[in-house]
Formats: sequence, C-alpha cells, structure tokens
Amino acid sequence: MKILISADMEGATGVTWPADVLPGTPQWERCRSLFTSDVNAAVQGFFDGGADEVLINEAHWTMRNLLLEELDERAEMLTGKHKSLSMVEGVQHGDVDGIAFVGYHTGAGAEGVLAHTYLANSLTGVWADGVRASEGLLNALVVAEFGVPVVLVTGDDRTVEDAGGYAPAAQGVAVKDYVSRYAAVCRTPARTAADIRAAAAKAAPLAVRTTPAPPQPHTIELEFDAEHLAGAATVVPGVERVGERRVAYTSRDMYEGIRCFKAVTTVVSAAVEEQYG
Ligand SMILES: [Zn+2]
Repeated sequence: MKILISADMEGATGVTWPADVLPGTPQWERCRSLFTSDVNAAVQGFFDGGADEVLINEAHWTMRNLLLEELDERAEMLTGKHKSLSMVEGVQHGDVDGIAFVGYHTGAGAEGVLAHTYLANSLTGVWADGVRASEGLLNALVVAEFGVPVVLVTGDDRTVEDAGGYAPAAQGVAVKDYVSRYAAVCRTPARTAADIRAAAAKAAPLAVRTTPAPPQPHTIELEFDAEHLAGAATVVPGVERVGERRVAYTSRDMYEGIRCFKAVTTVVSAAVEEQYG
C-alpha cells in the first residue's frame, strides 16, 4: 500500500498568521518544525495502519518547507517546484492507493484560518461545476480521475467541515479552531501529533485504489477582487469573461482543469499591482 501525502502549511498546528507561512521569516522557521511534526505524525500513523510506502509531496509556496532531517526514515519526500500536478504531483503514476491532505485550509472567500485558493489574495471565490471550491475540493477532483481516494484531511475545524463535502469517508483532524482569518484556538503539537497519528492509522484501510471513472468535463469559474485581473486571465486560451470580475473555462477533464487553473493564477499574480491591487 502506497500513500501520498499532499502537505500544505496554512492548516498546520499553530499557524494563524501570514509570517508563519512566509519563507524566510523567523516565524516561518519556527512553524516549519510544527508543520513537519504534523506530516511526520501522518507518516507514522499510515505505517501503523499497514502502509508499505509513504511519499510526501510538498505543496506550500516554494514547496521547500518541511525538514527532511526530522522525518521518519521510512518516508520519502518530493520537494521543490515545478510539477505538472502541483499539490497532488505523484498521484498520476498508477501506484498510489490513497492520498492525505495535511495542513490544508478553506477556499477563497470562505471562513477559515488563512483561507485562500492558490493566490494569497486577489481571488474572492472559485466554483467547480457550480460548487464553491477549496484547494481540497479541486485536488479531490484531480485524484478521483486516477481512482485514488482522499483518506485523511487535517487543518482547522472549517477545513475538516469542508472535506465532509468532497471526501465524506475521509478521517478528519482539526488541529485548531477558527476564530478569524488570522486567529485560532490552537492545540499543542504533542496533542495534534497524537490525534493525526491515530486518524492516519484508521485512514490506512480506506486507501483502496479503484478503476478510474472515464474523465468528465469540468467548468471552473473564478472571481477576482479587481476588474483588470479578469481581463488579464483571458489571455489563457479557453478562458472567457463571464462578468465584470469573473472568468470561466471548461476543461475536458480535471487533469487539464487544474493545469489551466495554475496558468490563470500565474498570469493573474503577474498582473497584480503592488499599490492598487
Ligand atoms: Zn494552500
């Protein structure tokens, strides 16, 4: 049994503030260790539950945050960018039986600690086939095309609630309770590591890869906080303007859909002006 862990940082233990997740800050240095503790607890729990292999895919910012030297020696880690499937890179080779979303967060415009979807700001909402989408939901649509179930989700309490929509069978661990976008009631790393380890052990038997369903087209809609960003996004082929601050595109499957999403967010982030947004 092989497990892939997609590891994002905003939903890690103790993290509530931008500097906690911004590479290079003293707070980030400290929080890397808390983040690594969450991921390591998941690794240990999956091995407790019968996994033979665990691959961790770094999914936050520069994708160079975890402390390799602190990880359980049975795990392997995919670190750095650029990867065609980004946050769920590694799922496409036909050998992954289940995936865990560790340190995840809610989507742009939703309640949740450091809530956003790919871009820290600028995006005020994303919808996939009419349903408000978080990164968890988008990535769940991608991995479903490879027959891989989401078996564990960790983050704040709102993130676990969100996962109930896209992965109802998954184990969920809330490492903190949402108070505002920049505040949460946090539990200690010792406590959250124990919770994550126990949940991962319970999640391991859920890791059963199925024959992938035929790919379906998906319509993704994005809303920005400024009109010119919608205009900038339409430079990506297939992306149409559907409102003053909204664009949409339909992809033939989610493998294409998530890569188009990355292209749009990359173009849009280059169009954001420092002072006027
Ligand atoms: Zn994220």
